[in-house]
Amino acid sequence: MYLWRMHSPINIPVQEILDPVLRENAVRVYLKREDLIHEKISGNKWRKLVYNLKHAKSKGLKTLVTFGGAFSNHISATAAAGKEFGFKTVGVIRGEEYASLNPTLHYASSCGMELRYVDRSAYREKMSKEFKAKYLADIESYYLIPEGGTNKLAVRGCEEILSEIPIDFDVTCCACGTGGTLSGIINSLKPHQRALGFVSLKGGDFIHDEIRKYVINSQWSLNLDYHFGGYAKVDRVLVDFINQFKLKHNIALDPIYTGKMMFGLWNLIENGYFRRGTTIIAIHTGGLQGILGMNERNRAKGLQIL
Ligand SMILES: *Cc1c(COP(=O)(O)O)cnc(C)c1O
Repeated sequence: MYLWRMHSPINIPVQEILDPVLRENAVRVYLKREDLIHEKISGNKWRKLVYNLKHAKSKGLKTLVTFGGAFSNHISATAAAGKEFGFKTVGVIRGEEYASLNPTLHYASSCGMELRYVDRSAYREKMSKEFKAKYLADIESYYLIPEGGTNKLAVRGCEEILSEIPIDFDVTCCACGTGGTLSGIINSLKPHQRALGFVSLKGGDFIHDEIRKYVINSQWSLNLDYHFGGYAKVDRVLVDFINQFKLKHNIALDPIYTGKMMFGLWNLIENGYFRRGTTIIAIHTGGLQGILGMNERNRAKGLQIL
């Protein structure tokens, strides 16, 4: 596909979820199915990449360099986007190389992404001059995308997530890692609307400051209560919720982000957090590629996502 075809996605469905819990509490929940944007460049990662890739192309930069852990949706999406839009890609991966690649890295590598492993202490310094000199100096004319893909252009892409929604909603919910996606959403709210971010990691208070770098209004808040022990940690309660949701609604949720958000949202609704009559748009940010790797990792514990 040529880059001129890399326009922002349109006509992404908004699907109403019907559930007794919602009826009892007199709230409506719609799911914006960003997971359907693209099979491999899914959800918010497409939104975050689109203007970055256009920018890199316009500068004549041929290689995308980015960072992530071994299960990263962003690594996977960047590898796929590089292949589709004609960039070389280099993924700097946190941690050691294992004898066999997990599903995420296997996929990234199959897209042509070159994987460079760095230990955790070096990884922490990845945006420094020294790091670039040591690990990236051999790469010609590259465009650097931060870990998780968040920068100004990414936020701009995420400002388009709500733009096609024909429903007059009160609250929108989104899962947060870096807060970039939520920032874009916040910037596109109408004055009577609010955004609620569900933070997927433990100790996510700093995300408030990250978001303040990109937004000026104060129509938002973060919920830090549904991290399930930390980033990429899951337990049986969460896995059961995700599996039940799939059985009831035929919609897959990922265990790292959207599963935790929907669990949190359902929990708040059951506890009467939203006034009756509230209309909520939850954003399905994708991330389903992570399920395979998570199931592989948790097989011995018997925690399997259907
Ligand atoms: C990366 C990701 C997020 C987090 O997005 P941020 O912009 O970093 O907050 C949320 N959901 C899914 C599915 C993701 O892959």
